[in-house]
Amino acid sequence: MKALQYVRVGAPPELREVPVPEPGPGQVRLKVTAAGACHSDSFVMSLPEEQYTASYPLPMTLGHEGAGVVDKLGDGATGVAVGDSVAVYGPWGCGRCLQCAQGKENYCPRAAELGITPPGLGHDGSMAEYMIVDDPRFLVPLGDLDPADNVALTDAGLTPYHAIKGSLGKLGPGSSAVVIGAGGLGHVAIQLLRSLTTATVIALDVSDDKLALARDVGAHHAFPSDPSARERIAEVIGVPAVTAVFDFVAAAPTLELGAALRGVESDQVLVGVGGGQVDVGMLLAPYDATVRAPYWGSRPELMEVLALARSGHVRVETERFSLDEAPEAYHRLHEGTLRGRAVVTP
Ligand code: NAD
Ligand code: ZN
Ligand code: ZN
Repeated sequence: MKALQYVRVGAPPELREVPVPEPGPGQVRLKVTAAGACHSDSFVMSLPEEQYTASYPLPMTLGHEGAGVVDKLGDGATGVAVGDSVAVYGPWGCGRCLQCAQGKENYCPRAAELGITPPGLGHDGSMAEYMIVDDPRFLVPLGDLDPADNVALTDAGLTPYHAIKGSLGKLGPGSSAVVIGAGGLGHVAIQLLRSLTTATVIALDVSDDKLALARDVGAHHAFPSDPSARERIAEVIGVPAVTAVFDFVAAAPTLELGAALRGVESDQVLVGVGGGQVDVGMLLAPYDATVRAPYWGSRPELMEVLALARSGHVRVETERFSLDEAPEAYHRLHEGTLRGRAVVTP
């Protein structure tokens, strides 16, 4: 079968011919229907040799957003049937600890020590004709949701949903929420904020096209992400501080801007892996301001996000690519010229 693999540190991913994998005991093989390309893949592929090889084996099939049709069950795998259309819950955990028991496998404290990694971020992922899923519990029924339209909800939907849920109690009438980076995750975050809260939603980006997308998907305001943003935001909301900042870049300049927008009891939520740092502490930030760095989301939250798609509250903007064109999808992601999410349909 064809698979898009990261083969050599620093080199672009390659389309390769590899054997169709066989499901082992308890595992499920999917015939992949759709796979999403995430900026985290680009991040992983930008790591230098020492950091990369410490975490992941090579070659590795990319893709941590996946959807497929159940194709073959390993011995003892139950709960799904051949032919089911499913989405893959990616942040796998041990299934037994307190966090996993609550469906929060994204926060499994034992995953690292047990060598459990998400597909596409440590072992073979969804950018192939077939993929192996370690346990049927990582599969959520898609029902009649179109796989290519909705595959990105497994990360670009789930991650902002989880990030926003943590601040939901603060985002009542009169509140304001800033989304920094209206890309794959950010453009879904805007829709989630509009559906789940009464906050005034303000998007910031460095690209005019992304600012246009932000307005199209429901942002009340969209401004260039630069130091002038603070003043423009104050003008439209009438106060100098916002209730919550969701930063899908989290590099030094956006963290600085986010920190400048903080107010008393505000949330600064860092989702991007831009590598910056934020100061907190008495006299360094307004009273009781919170800084959080959430990771992905829980299994029940993925079910909730798919329910929001079913009821028409979120719609991922996608650009489609074949598996042969998948290297181009990553190139466009790297260039920053995609509208929404790049989705590969094998
Ligand atoms: P993307 O490339 O689709 O979107 C990034 C957006 O940020 C683009 O619209 C880009 O124009 C914009 N941008 C770049 N620099 C900016 C700046 N200085 N100010 C404002 N906007 C700027 O990426 P994505 O796939 O949506 O991922 C976003 C980030 O989230 C990445 O860092 C990714 O690695 C990370 N991520 C984190 C998690 C998690 O669990 N915490 C999960 C998935 C992705
Ligand atoms: Zn991702
Ligand atoms: Zn666990």
